[in-house]
Amino acid sequence: MKKALIFLMITALAAAMCLPACAAEADRTLTLVNPGNTVPADWSVDLVGIGNGHKVDRACYNDLMEMLAACKAAGHTPAVKSSYRTQNAQKQLYENKVRQWKGYGYSEEEARKQAATIVAIPGTSEHQLGWAVDIVDDRYHSLNEKQATMPTQIWLMEHSWEYGFLLRYPVGKSEVTGIIYEPWHYRWVGRDNARAIYESGLCLEEYLERQAVRESVRGAIGEQYGAIARQICEILVKKTLPASVMKP
Ligand SMILES: [Zn+2]
Repeated sequence: MKKALIFLMITALAAAMCLPACAAEADRTLTLVNPGNTVPADWSVDLVGIGNGHKVDRACYNDLMEMLAACKAAGHTPAVKSSYRTQNAQKQLYENKVRQWKGYGYSEEEARKQAATIVAIPGTSEHQLGWAVDIVDDRYHSLNEKQATMPTQIWLMEHSWEYGFLLRYPVGKSEVTGIIYEPWHYRWVGRDNARAIYESGLCLEEYLERQAVRESVRGAIGEQYGAIARQICEILVKKTLPASVMKP
């Protein structure tokens, strides 16, 4: 009876100590799309119209509608300037930007490089996920840094996380995101993730990197605990059982 009890305790201890080794399931809402990560090949969208010919994926529709309504209720004038884009639409935008830079006298290669910091290379735009929107103040439609001074934008930058959206390309993070400061581009990641990322002060790339490090540390600690648990098992078993039982 006593042996059975000790065996159960050891099993429970070993199981509990091995728990942190379990890897967290990948969260689809955190799908990273950036200059180094293309839209997943199997990505599918369930498009819903949001007015003025704009569409977003159904997953973020309710949060977006609530955010826009709250922004308006606070006395502001948000206007969606860009939403879901197909690969072709993204390609057109990008090629137009390349032409513009070539017009400034840049070489083909240099024009493509410059264009990519402003318009994502086709296949690497979050707009293709259906989870990104460009929102401007209806009194100022230009996509430049002045947008950050508009009351609508000030409200969105402060509250978008409450509705599951991130200001995806914040000031000072261009080196990490590869995209210029865009005080108009909001990316949906779900409310829990948006809160965690907003509170962390990190951009999505940094947040995901930190999460990966945390997982690997947890995995390493889990393995350590597993080894310790196994050693404790050995010691306890040897102390508890008579020598004859220990022999193979
Ligand atoms: Zn955008």
